[in-house]
Amino acid sequence: MKRNILLNPGPATTTDTVKNAQVVPDICPREQEFVEIMKQIRKDLVKIVHGDEREYTAVLFCGSGTISMDVCLNSLLPAGKKILVINNGAYSSRAAEICEYYGLPFINLKFPIDERPSLEQIEQILKENQDIALVYITHNETGTGILNPIREIGALAHAYGAIFVVDTTSTYAMRPINIKNDNIDFCMASAQKGLMAMTGISFVVGKRTIIEQSKTYPKRSYYCNLYMQYHYFEAHGEMHFTPPVQTVYAMRQAIKEYFAEGEQKKWERHTRVFEALHKGIERLGFQNIIKRDWQAGLVVTVKYPDDPNWSFSAIHDYCYKRGFTIYPGKINNTETFRLCALGAIDQSDIETFFEVFEAGLREMEVSLPVHYGLEEQTDERE
Ligand SMILES: *Cc1c(COP(=O)(O)O)cnc(C)c1O
Repeated sequence: MKRNILLNPGPATTTDTVKNAQVVPDICPREQEFVEIMKQIRKDLVKIVHGDEREYTAVLFCGSGTISMDVCLNSLLPAGKKILVINNGAYSSRAAEICEYYGLPFINLKFPIDERPSLEQIEQILKENQDIALVYITHNETGTGILNPIREIGALAHAYGAIFVVDTTSTYAMRPINIKNDNIDFCMASAQKGLMAMTGISFVVGKRTIIEQSKTYPKRSYYCNLYMQYHYFEAHGEMHFTPPVQTVYAMRQAIKEYFAEGEQKKWERHTRVFEALHKGIERLGFQNIIKRDWQAGLVVTVKYPDDPNWSFSAIHDYCYKRGFTIYPGKINNTETFRLCALGAIDQSDIETFFEVFEAGLREMEVSLPVHYGLEEQTDERE
């Protein structure tokens, strides 16, 4: 099969063995054979973040990663309480929007997209709002690539009696996470990102006791209720409603490959890819948005050069035709594109990519190294 290198922030490049794992004899997901597969996957998803199975559990849903955000926000807020969304990017803004759609009381604590949230300000808000029961943050803001200090923020949330929910969709199974040491009560991801499996399945990993408590919380969604899905899994070993059967088989294979590669080795590979991405853009003179020390190691957000011949869509199409996918940015006011270190790829793929990318730029007659205008600003955010 043709091997495409996806440098977009998920779905990622997958191995052929994962692709082929989807081709299985037809099976009804209510069969015991399938139930056993789901059981093992739930255990493995907890193991990936080093959780103790008695304390933490995994609940799967049929949908893209946003479903996990939706599930956690709508299901884990007790009556009369408030959510604090710590917001320094597009994915946390999405969480705020979910709160809005459900009519949940929430505080949208905004920070600049190229800065880490201030712990002092977070603590101040927690102090002033004793009714905050849930603190929410994005681990790696995939729109910019900034890594948020979850361990410290989790400790603050707990000190003020709130639970801590972290969107780890773009870090789970990539950056090593330890759910307990990182002070996480709930984290989440979808199969097509760090796990390098197929789209269509997402999951929440979190504390059993809190899920049990949430049984009595206001029910705001039917299909996306965490307790309901958890309870069905516990009682019957499977999803309440039809699972994406073939996607589950691919996920099982991807998990097998995850453990075979190993957490550290895999993270080293992604780091090699990330460094090769940086090396490539630096060689061509491109600038990126986020201070290097704060980058999660997964997404490089690159500024459009000031060149009349530059066209993102033209360079995208040039690369796409040659098997490489690059992705637009997700920031207001600054024109950017993104290159991501996800997927079953390695350093040599990135080196080949830059040969293609550079040839494309030359064909478009973009001057190299690229240049930026005199009015260069470091503070172009909203
Ligand atoms: C990919 C991603 C999601 C989910 O996005 P979908 O489009 O629903 O797959 C959520 N949060 C973060 C941080 C992500 O990177």
